[in-house]
Amino acid sequence: MDIQFLGTGAGQPSKARNVSSLALKLLDEINEVWLFDCGEGTQNRILETTIRPRKVSKIFITHLHGDHIFGLPGFLSSRAFQANEEQTDLDIYGPQGIKSFVLTSLRVSGSRLPYRIHFHEFDQDSLGKILETDKFTVYAEELDHTIFCVGYRVMQKDLEGTLDAEKLKTAGVPFGPLFGKIKNGQDVVLEDGTEIKAADYISAPRPGKIITILGDTRKTNASVRLAVNADVLVHESTYGKGDEKIARNHGHSTNMQAAQVAAEAGAKRLLLNHISARFLSKDISQLKKDAATVFENVHVVKDLEEVEI
Ligand SMILES: [Zn+2]
Repeated sequence: MDIQFLGTGAGQPSKARNVSSLALKLLDEINEVWLFDCGEGTQNRILETTIRPRKVSKIFITHLHGDHIFGLPGFLSSRAFQANEEQTDLDIYGPQGIKSFVLTSLRVSGSRLPYRIHFHEFDQDSLGKILETDKFTVYAEELDHTIFCVGYRVMQKDLEGTLDAEKLKTAGVPFGPLFGKIKNGQDVVLEDGTEIKAADYISAPRPGKIITILGDTRKTNASVRLAVNADVLVHESTYGKGDEKIARNHGHSTNMQAAQVAAEAGAKRLLLNHISARFLSKDISQLKKDAATVFENVHVVKDLEEVEI
């Protein structure tokens, strides 16, 4: 599982950073890619990766500001042009209004898609668990921005323990149906009378990963709740240390506030994005240094950077 950042800039594109989008690559887990936000030019960024648009099965939108959604019509249209590839449905989750934005853009441009889009819109009153599959559960909670904006908490379900086949062979268990029984937790007795306790040959279940991806926000308790014990917290850092007042006025956070959220939530790792073009590279290292005084495991991400979870 990893996250690839497609756009890490704030507000408008710059040469180094495109506007917001990231891909949560779940190829090993479910052979799918989930996009979070889709700023203008997201499809161009995707061209520079190994991501195949058809693999994008779900898109989660945090809020309706243009730098988070203007890439949707283009991406959705290009996704249709994949010769010889099966056309698969796509789900879009986002605030009320996203459906009308997408359908209007497609209609007035005369775009017809050969696949279906299922919209899942929500508002303040319909948040909470927005998706559950056999492997993942996704929660959304309202943040504190200048318009309705949410953060997402993606929780992978616990992974079953695996069977230690080598150890079973050494114990003299013949390969075959007995393996299946032991894998299902059944104790067995071999022909020579040896008892095999299943628990000795199956590793303990591994806890699933927790990934928290927030939209634009002031510092708020909702962010902390969404990020509790997260393996990775992706948090905006539109402003730097000392700019807390301006950040508040514009509905954003500083690197220090993002670090406080990560610390309060007990997150394991903090990735800062939504970086203003005002910041030069020396400022970026300062952003990280300052944030690290509050939360050590912090990193300011770049476009196209891939982070393994
Ligand atoms: Zn915004």
